Amino acid sequence: MATGNINVSVENIFPLIKKFLYSDHEIFLRELISNATDATLKLKHLTDIGEAGGVEYGNPRIEVKINKENNTLHVIDQGVGMTKEEVEKYINEVAFSGAEEFLEKYKDSAKDSGIIGHFGLGFYSAFMVANKVEIITKSFKDEPAAHWVCEGTTEFTLEGADKKEHGTEIILHINEDDKEFLEEARIRELLTKYNKFMPIPIKFGTREESLPLPEDAPEDAKPETKTVDDIINNPNPAWTKQPNELEDKDYKEFYRELYPMQFEEPLFHIHLNVDYPFNLTGILYFPKLTGNMDIQRDKIQLYQNQVFVTDNVEGIVPEFLTMLRGVIDSPDIPLNVSRSYLQADSNVKKIASYISRKVADKLKSLFNNNREDFEKKWDDIKIVIEYGMLSEDKFFKKADDFALYPTVDKKYYTYTELEEKIKDNQTDKDGNMVILYASNEDSQHSYIEAAKAKGYEVLMLDSPIVSHLLQKLESEKEKISFVRVDADHVDNLIKKDEEKISKLSDEEKEKLKTDFENVIPKEKYTVQLEAMDSDAAPLLITQPEFMRRMKEMQQTGGGGMFGMGNMPEMYNLVVNTNHPLISDILNTKTAKKQERLIKQSLDLARLSQNLLKGEELTAFIKRSFDMVK
Ligand code: ADP
Ligand code: MG
Repeated sequence: MATGNINVSVENIFPLIKKFLYSDHEIFLRELISNATDATLKLKHLTDIGEAGGVEYGNPRIEVKINKENNTLHVIDQGVGMTKEEVEKYINEVAFSGAEEFLEKYKDSAKDSGIIGHFGLGFYSAFMVANKVEIITKSFKDEPAAHWVCEGTTEFTLEGADKKEHGTEIILHINEDDKEFLEEARIRELLTKYNKFMPIPIKFGTREESLPLPEDAPEDAKPETKTVDDIINNPNPAWTKQPNELEDKDYKEFYRELYPMQFEEPLFHIHLNVDYPFNLTGILYFPKLTGNMDIQRDKIQLYQNQVFVTDNVEGIVPEFLTMLRGVIDSPDIPLNVSRSYLQADSNVKKIASYISRKVADKLKSLFNNNREDFEKKWDDIKIVIEYGMLSEDKFFKKADDFALYPTVDKKYYTYTELEEKIKDNQTDKDGNMVILYASNEDSQHSYIEAAKAKGYEVLMLDSPIVSHLLQKLESEKEKISFVRVDADHVDNLIKKDEEKISKLSDEEKEKLKTDFENVIPKEKYTVQLEAMDSDAAPLLITQPEFMRRMKEMQQTGGGGMFGMGNMPEMYNLVVNTNHPLISDILNTKTAKKQERLIKQSLDLARLSQNLLKGEELTAFIKRSFDMVK
């Protein structure tokens, strides 16, 4: 029996490991299963290249077992195993990564073998949950088995063992404080989280499987069951396959496998697959995003060689795409570094821009191949696209080909098509093309109708970030401006060179203005006299585009622009000087009656824009009943 000291430069590395190495204790299991997987894949590689000394690869699996009586957790593999010397070398020389050495030695042939380890401290994470760890291992080489025991100090024992088959068993004697890791449910949870798609089958207990009923079985016959190994993982997940091996239904099935609690189907998927200048595979899904975006539990998952690492992909996936779902798998993402370092890493930057390019390409091909279907999906995907247009210039340029601008009549234009359609009728006297839009079909109904009556196209833009997007479009495109239909009286939305004749003289106008200002709250409404058609509305409430948009942008995170965050709601009260009711108001002799007329008309104007609420609405209704009775 050999005893010795583990060769570390730090006198006692264990407290360090326990405290700092991984903040998450649960990852020990992922590390041990990764090692077991590596050991198995190494054997596969050696048998493939004929260097396994006659050992058959067979159908190896990894087994995880709990022994509650002994307080132990076992991870057993049928991989390469280790000789005594190898245990000395790979286990005792902490931070000497055997995986790295293996990859170095078989550099060319092993590059794509999918070997996981490279931090060199994975094995020692076992001491985060165990006070004593044993290794019983037998190499595939014709050498005796070895038994290593260490109790969480720098001392260990290493002696022979009588294990006959090649492979390794790791035995953890679980700490009093970490008893949760002896619970079946907890281990199953961890296996499902980290190991669900690892490449070697992992057995955890057994389960009952129903046997098919014989043909002549009576209707109420219960099928016989047989006990089979419970394999917790799918070793060949969809993203490891080539796109041409998969059909649409395979992608959908994989989506369900990934998010078993998600019942809605994804809209479409994007298969990622590159190996130069970095290695990345994965499948991204566009989910329906119309619902509540706060409830975002189903996120993109990041894997390295089929081992789950995290579902925080911030910094790796472009921010506007973090709303998508799916997996990405890349061994080239440095994970033992801080997030800010990660974002500066050039590989990671390339990965992010690759993903964004692939998404743009996919959207473009969906648009080109089936425009009708793309239009149907637009409402569900627009938020991602609009967000992408705002946050990435490259994406903005690409999106010009497929970003859609729907009208209130459900026609969908690309920007170029829209421009073509409206430029003649909607260019103002200064040569600016004015694009009209609405954000709510109900509350802006009368404004939409008025604009349509002039032959204008009205877009329906209702995303929460639309004001930012319009700002961006206005600065990128030449001589255009977006104006919401309720920003002004229709003749002023797109100013043309036409004089409107007012029925009222200048003195009358002056008086009318004063009359109104005496009655309405001045801090809220600015009176604006307009000579409109006599059958247009007598009063109209509008909110100037600029002010409204600044306010919206601030509410949705536009920064401290002009300090307008607390700006009060301000409206223009457009008074149609050609309307008979307005003449009546002007000519009303008694001040009391005039006041009542103005108030009632103002309330009607507010009502038409959904601005009359609560107590004021109640008072209005009462007053109206009094008037009609
Ligand atoms: P890494 O996996 O990054 O190399 P670890 O600390 O996880 O570092 O493991 C150290 C080394 O111990 C491995 O590289 C491998 O050589 C050896 N090892 C660990 N577990 C096993 C195992 N189950 N079978 C064979 N070798 C193992
Ligand atoms: Mg490892």
